[in-house]
Amino acid sequence: EKRNPYEPEFQQAVKEFLYSLAPVLSKHPEYIEAAILERMVEPERLILFRVPWVDDQGKVHVNRGYRVQFNSALGPYKGGIRFHPSVNSSIIKFLGFEQIFKNALTGQPIGGGKGGSDFDPKGKSDGEIMRFVQSFMTELYRYLGPDVDVPAGDIGVGAKEVGYMFGQYKRIRGAYENGVLTGKGLTYGGSLGRKEATGYGTVYFVEEMLRSKDMSFEGRTVVVSGSGNVAIYAIEKAQEKGAKVVACSDSGGYIYDPEGIKLDTVKRLKEVEKKRISEYVKEHPQAQYHPGCSGIWSVPCHIALPCATQNEIDEASAKLLVANGLIALGEGANMPSTLEAMEVYLQSGILYGPAKAANAGGVAVSALEMAQNSMRYAWTFEEVDQKLQVIMKNIYENSMKASEEFGHPGNLVVGSNIAGFVKVADTMLAQGVV
Ligand code: NDP
Repeated sequence: EKRNPYEPEFQQAVKEFLYSLAPVLSKHPEYIEAAILERMVEPERLILFRVPWVDDQGKVHVNRGYRVQFNSALGPYKGGIRFHPSVNSSIIKFLGFEQIFKNALTGQPIGGGKGGSDFDPKGKSDGEIMRFVQSFMTELYRYLGPDVDVPAGDIGVGAKEVGYMFGQYKRIRGAYENGVLTGKGLTYGGSLGRKEATGYGTVYFVEEMLRSKDMSFEGRTVVVSGSGNVAIYAIEKAQEKGAKVVACSDSGGYIYDPEGIKLDTVKRLKEVEKKRISEYVKEHPQAQYHPGCSGIWSVPCHIALPCATQNEIDEASAKLLVANGLIALGEGANMPSTLEAMEVYLQSGILYGPAKAANAGGVAVSALEMAQNSMRYAWTFEEVDQKLQVIMKNIYENSMKASEEFGHPGNLVVGSNIAGFVKVADTMLAQGVV
């Protein structure tokens, strides 16, 4: 805390992680002797840069760009780029830190990184977004490469922004290195199944948790927060599995549809027309719109999938969910639950799939995109989806195994943190003091 005084989100992510490690550290003093923890919490590099750009009226704006290259023990730095006004070094460091262990859990050869800018893409024209992205990449490109650092999308960064980033990178490098970014369009090296991977993966993970108790999504009531990339495909897969998804949201408020959310409408409103979720009720009068985000957790459900942003569920919301009959919660977003909310889940005994494990499907398929780029070959959607299902099952099983081995059977926070940690820690030991 003394070293990172103005970084509450980073402190929160590190605390949650360190609490889990006591059982492994007492068994393995070699990690302490080699100062593995001290090295892990210090990024290898944090890059901060100016991003000047010109709007449609000719006015000059300046935003801040960030890239944290946190840990490269397992492979090139890998992690998304976020464009949101709340972005600062604390947010980027918390995301980059979590990414190290999430990436380790996928079993793919990727290190941990994250980046972004406090640029707000909302209300900007296509031309403004492109000029901003070109300026952003004109500085960032020098730190990237298919074997160095491979960014992807995150909040506010979808296929369009990744396309502009790749265009500018290619122009500056004068080489067609499409393995430098993931989440690309399908005509220039993107992978089938990447867009769906995080949301689908979260549902596959929750399905594993439910199966362990002889339950499934069939006939269950589900609430999903957000209506972005992760939320939309979590809703799609949950519906495919026979669940009734009754609520979703955006940063303005949430909709409740007692008949079940009509995903076609949500996709058109958010992916195509870029409108507010409140518009949904105009087409579906049986549904209700409620302004404000946290109210969504008052909707009774069996399964909750927070897929919007960090700290969206606090202690009071967690208690409400449990009191209303929650049986499982899987985190599609990164760190959507406060430390107090996590404590409520663990005490109540619900099935809890923490973000590092439950939302690792996105980055896992990004690593599969890198593999396809290296091979100059593309797998079918079914091949990618099949691999994703195997990866999510492995993450679940490895996390369960670690939770049992280290004395907290069924606690997937402890299990996933330890499974990810051990892999990175052993690799760092093998590579010496670097
Ligand atoms: P998108 O930008 O596609 O969607 C984000 C959604 O969350 C939107 O509905 C947005 O509402 C809402 N939202 C964003 N910020 C806030 C806020 N401060 N308060 C309330 N709602 C908010 O992002 P993604 O779906 O890609 O990402 C969602 C989460 O999943 C993030 O935590 C991200 O880090 C995580 N994640 C994403 C992965 C991916 O592959 N994309 C992989 C792993 C994790 P609005 O439309 O109003 O902005």
